[in-house]
Amino acid sequence: MNKITIAIDGHSSCGKSTMAKDLAREIGYVYIDTGAMYRAVTLFCLQNGLIKDEKIETDELRKHMNDISITFQLNPTTGKPDTYLNGICVEDKIRTLEVSSKVSYVAALDFVREAMVDLQRLMGEAKGVIMDGRDIGTVVFPNAELKIFVTASDEIRAQRRYDELIAKGEKCNIEDILANIRERDRIDSTRAVSPLRKADDAIVLDNSHMTIPEQKEWLLAQFQRVTAG
Ligand code: C5P
Repeated sequence: MNKITIAIDGHSSCGKSTMAKDLAREIGYVYIDTGAMYRAVTLFCLQNGLIKDEKIETDELRKHMNDISITFQLNPTTGKPDTYLNGICVEDKIRTLEVSSKVSYVAALDFVREAMVDLQRLMGEAKGVIMDGRDIGTVVFPNAELKIFVTASDEIRAQRRYDELIAKGEKCNIEDILANIRERDRIDSTRAVSPLRKADDAIVLDNSHMTIPEQKEWLLAQFQRVTAG
């Protein structure tokens, strides 16, 4: 059977990556978390003093784009891909609230998006890929055979992110997280370059009241429907 491209876009913290990872494992596809790529660029900025007083040193970052290498490697323990920045595993470092609070500003820069989109197209060119993000179905792979747009209520998304961070031992409070996801959605949806929006041919999934196994089953059914025809 010919492999297809699956694009999963949607709002922040609505479980896109969990669904996408589960399906990838089940059907033997490659999973690519494009949010992790923008997070890794943001971490690079923080590590190299390119964000000062909340302001991104845009010219400096532009000069350094060629110094940023982002790769993924399957973690044999978790069975999930870890993100590497210049050869170092940064999977935990890119998930902090500090990175979350800056990433949407970095992701709104046109030259950052160009570099990441080029890389994403390269990673997905052989098909058999599930990519999640904000602009996969609209910009990166507009011809993807299956496009899903995921959303959930703000409060439920904040609660899920809170539970995730607490489980990792990070100190946080739910109000900050709620404010962060609302702010990221606002910036992502209103930016000039590749704003977050549902592709015309995407199927909407509101998973507010669905369990993870229910979402997995729903997504698998969508995949089977598209590949059966
Ligand atoms: O998916 P995740 O929440 O980890 O993404 C982090 C941020 O990266 C988003 O809030 C958004 O600003 C940016 N992003 C993007 N385009 C993508 C994926 C993520 O702009 N394709």
